[in-house]
Amino acid sequence: MPRIVIIEDEPDLAMGLRDNLEFEHNEVAHALDGASGLKLVQQKPTDLVLLDIMLPDLDGFEVCRRLRAAGYTMPIIMLTARSQEIDKVRGLELGADDYVTKPFSLRELLARINANMRRSGAWRETDGAVRVGAASVDFQRHRLVRDGQEIECSAREIALLRYLVERRGQVVSRDTLLEVVWGRPQDIATRTVDNFIVRLRKKIEPDPSKPRILLTVHGSGYKLVVD
Ligand code: CA
Repeated sequence: MPRIVIIEDEPDLAMGLRDNLEFEHNEVAHALDGASGLKLVQQKPTDLVLLDIMLPDLDGFEVCRRLRAAGYTMPIIMLTARSQEIDKVRGLELGADDYVTKPFSLRELLARINANMRRSGAWRETDGAVRVGAASVDFQRHRLVRDGQEIECSAREIALLRYLVERRGQVVSRDTLLEVVWGRPQDIATRTVDNFIVRLRKKIEPDPSKPRILLTVHGSGYKLVVD
């Protein structure tokens, strides 16, 4: 189920959004202020953020800026009562993907949410699988399917991919991967991680020679982005 975080200080509006988004089969978390909203996003992989601009503590611009600075790439749709063009430009400059002016029709907002999630590739397929690049991965069943064919993966490959998918948009170091996926055995070289990454690229990248999903961040590690 896609997870949506709503950061909105008007409880009635947030409640209405929550009910409707849950009805549309999303997992929804809601925060009344910016700082709690940031925490909700950090807690669990999030597919989309609905972000009010006028909030009691950090405003929506600052929340948006901090999310992007921390490497989060999920779509952010800003909500505001104000309609000045300057706000819209500022929000988009700070990394928001879309902008909805209150009062908005619920149907319009739902359509924008769906369009943004589809564009980000965070769309979950109906059978519980997640689309990652050219493949569809069901982490529960340890199954990776590409072009309708199941592709064999080791448990460690699936674990590595899962860890990166859960932290999509963030840079993860080789040391962290060794520790989490391999349990940091003394005799494993960081090169092992690189070899596994090459193997995963062959399975998920549309063109493994030009990675655009599982990226190398020179001097730091790897980053998985959903396009
Ligand atoms: Ca507000």
